[in-house]
Order: sequence, then C-alpha cells, then structure tokens
Amino acid sequence: MTKQRAAQKQKVQARPPVVAILGHVDHGKTTLLDYIRKSNVASKEHGGITQHTSSYQIDADGKRITFIDTPGHAAFSAMRSRGASVTDIAVLVVAADDGVMPQTKESISHIKAASIPMIVAINKTDVPGANLERVKKGLAEEGVLVEGYGGSVVAVPVSAKTGQGVEELLEMISLVAEMEELKGNKDQEFEGVVIDSMLDRFKGPVAIILVKQGTLRLGNQVFAGDASGKVKSLTTTNREKIAQAEPSLPVEMLGMNKVPAVGEVVRLGESVKAEETKTGERKFSLEGPTKEIRLILKADTAGSLEAIEAAISSLETSEGKVKIVHKETGEVNESDIQLAAATKALIVAFNVASSKSIEKQAVEEKVLLRQYNLIYELLDELKEGVEALLKIDKEELVGKAQVVAAFKFGEAKIAGCKVLEGRISRENKVNIVRDGRKVSTNSIKSMKHIQEDINSASEGQEFGLLFIGKVDFAVGDIIEAIK
Ligand code: GDP
Repeated sequence: MTKQRAAQKQKVQARPPVVAILGHVDHGKTTLLDYIRKSNVASKEHGGITQHTSSYQIDADGKRITFIDTPGHAAFSAMRSRGASVTDIAVLVVAADDGVMPQTKESISHIKAASIPMIVAINKTDVPGANLERVKKGLAEEGVLVEGYGGSVVAVPVSAKTGQGVEELLEMISLVAEMEELKGNKDQEFEGVVIDSMLDRFKGPVAIILVKQGTLRLGNQVFAGDASGKVKSLTTTNREKIAQAEPSLPVEMLGMNKVPAVGEVVRLGESVKAEETKTGERKFSLEGPTKEIRLILKADTAGSLEAIEAAISSLETSEGKVKIVHKETGEVNESDIQLAAATKALIVAFNVASSKSIEKQAVEEKVLLRQYNLIYELLDELKEGVEALLKIDKEELVGKAQVVAAFKFGEAKIAGCKVLEGRISRENKVNIVRDGRKVSTNSIKSMKHIQEDINSASEGQEFGLLFIGKVDFAVGDIIEAIK
C-alpha cells in the first residue's frame, strides 16, 4: 500500500448506516421504531425525541445505526420515496397476520428504484394467525426472494410489541451495513440533507439535518436552497447538545433565516438566492388562465407542505387548475391575507392555528380561509373545487332564448321560444333559468319553425322546442344553450 493510499484509507471511516422503515399502514412501522428507540436510546429529557421527527441514532453493542422516519399516511408516499433516497438500507415491514398489501408493493417499488439493500422484518409474529410462509410467498410473487424461496433477501421474524427478534434485526442491519462498506469522510467538506423542518414559535426556523459527509460545526455559515444562516445550536434528536455532527447523524439545527425545504441539500457558505430574496419583494405572478384555483398553503412543517403539494399534483384533474401562489410553514399572518386578497387566492391552513384577529381580517378582505388537519379532507374538497371549475369551463354559453308561449303536444308540452342572443342548436344542452336561478339542465328532442323541423335558430328567430322527458318550464323562463 502506498503512503498516499494509506493516508486516504485513514481518512475514510466506516459510518453508521441510515435505515428507513417502509411498509403497509398498520403493519407496525411506528411501533417498531418506538421499540428500537426505547430499548436503545437513553433520552436526556422527558418526552425524548423531537416532536416532529422520529429520526434518531442508536448504539447497539457498539454499532451505531441511524433510523429515519417519514410520515406514515398513505398520502405521504411521495415523502417515503424521498426517504428511501437518503437511506442506505431499507427495512420492509410486513405483518405476518396480513401479508403483502398494496403499500407493501409500493414500498418494494420505492426500494428497488433507490437500488438499496432490503431487509424484511416479518412483524406481529406474536399474533395468533401469524403466517410466515404466506408472507414469504407473497414477497416472492413481488420479486422479493427471501432465503428458502430461491433468493438471498434476509427476512427476520419480529414482534414490535414484545421485542422478540428485534435484536436479530439490528444485527442483520449492521451486517448488511458492513457488507455495503459505507464510507463517510468527516474531514471532507460538509454536506447534509434537510430531512424535516418547521417553524418553532420560540426557536424560529428549525431544520433536522442528516449529515451526509464532512462535519457540521457550531458557528458554521450554511445555506440550503434560499435559506441560510450561522449554526446557532446543534441538538441530537435524543436531545443532547453537541458542538459538531459527523456523517449519518440526524441533528436539529437552529440559526437559519427561514425554514428550508425538506430534501434540500445543506452546504457551507452563503446562499446567493438568499441574498436576492432579502432585498426582493415577495413575488407572485398572475399570468396565465384565470380559471384556476389559487392557493396559499400554510402548514406546520416543510414536510407537510411538500406532501400536500405532491398530493395536489397527483390529483388527476389538477393540471393547470391549481396554482400555489405561496407556501410557507407557520401560522396564517397578515401578509398572507393581503396576498390572498390581491391574487384572489384561497388560504389553506394545514395543522396550524390562526388567531381570531386574522380570521376577522380574512372576513373583511373577503378571503376564504380553510383549516384542515387531515390531508384527505383537504384533497377531497380541493377535488370538488377543481371538478366544479372544469364544469364551468366546459359550460360555454352559446345562446339565450326566452319562453314566450307554451303549447300542448299530446302528453308533452312545447315551449314557444324567441332567441335573444347567439344561436341555439339541437345538440346543445339547455339550462332553464327562472328569476336568475338555474332550475334544470335538459336535452332537446326537436326544434320546429312553423311546421318544419330545424337544427338551429339564431338571434331574433322564433321556434318551438320539445324537450326530452318531462320538463318543468313557464312562460318568461330563459333558455341558455350550452356547448
Ligand atoms: P404503522 O402504521 O405501520 O406505523 O403501524 P403501527 O406501528 O401504528 O401499528 C399498528 C397497530 O399494530 C398498532 O395497534 C400496534 O400496537 C400494533 N402492532 C404493531 N406491531 C405489533 C406486533 O408486533 N404485535 C402486535 N400484537 N401488535 C402490533
């Protein structure tokens, strides 16, 4: 070995693996994360972990492992996939009493896309009806071949409730990590990733950072996207104050001028973009089609914001229909109301409160302020809104007529109409409007001028109109033809 290579080898140390736990809802991810934390971490403070993240590092028999968590709700799959991209090893949790489920398959796809090794934890083995073979068979059908099923994927039977098998799982994680030869160089230039962030009422912008390489120190000038600042404090997610953080350690960092976005890379130095935004106005654009729903998103954490945004863009009908004018973590404030009034946007507050005075201001400015705590409720309402919008979009008014007489025609009734504007055609749908309110929407069976069948009538023309089915109309009603 040359001197140079020896020196290099010395610098590159093995770093703890970063592990993400994935799997179907209710299969026990949270319980497993909690069990591992409780049995391996001595919390410095009551309540232990930072509220918004259950990312932490443990020391199991001298071997450190970092677990990172991403919210478990189905709508957060976008976050889970990102979770997999900062991780070295994925643990796929499958409940032995339930087997392979839709989100198990989804997780397998994420893991495969991330090209990282997978360990299967077959959970809930304490439950009567637990069936290991069924899980293994189900996995094989998804192309995950465990030992005994023609493959080498490690499957560890565990119970997150009793703790049975958890130690073996940790051992397997360390073993796979050793085989992966994960290297981190703490002497390299620092680089980290924001794995969660939030605005704290007392602490200001908080970022949970996972150190990828190098060392992050107190006093360092850092930036992440357009957020920047001097590192004021570093606290492990087990609430220990530290002066520096090395590779694979998740750490709570204070000192940024704004909340950085989740997934943003953190580096040493000053952000150019941050400088621009310091002097620049809060910009927004009103260009483009006016028939769109504009939103101002406010949420408790940058993670929630990102998840909501991802969920909105996954709404099939949302393309070009929903525009996020502004998004930010923290409570709804006065400038949000002003921005909403100026851009005719709707304020969506997710998991954040707004004061009485802000609510009053919203009413005064005729700004719609909606609060949600469940992402699917938000999505449902938004979907309805978009669908209503699409309907209006489609309903292009092509002509207007007025009912001037009513005739009997056998069982049916014919409306004697006069076209007021535009053109009414047989293929049009027609709304009956009475006193400015829509009464019904109908289809046309036939149109007649004197005795002759016609296909359309234009401005000033009189015609007889027979609807399909029994339709309630009266002399004086307005008929709106819609394309
Ligand atoms: P997640 O949605 O994957 O995070 O699932 P949770 O951790 O919330 O677990 C769902 C439910 O299963 C909870 O009621 C847990 O108490 C229960 N549970 C999780 N692991 C086990 C286990 O190993 N054995 C038993 N009996 N129950 C479990």
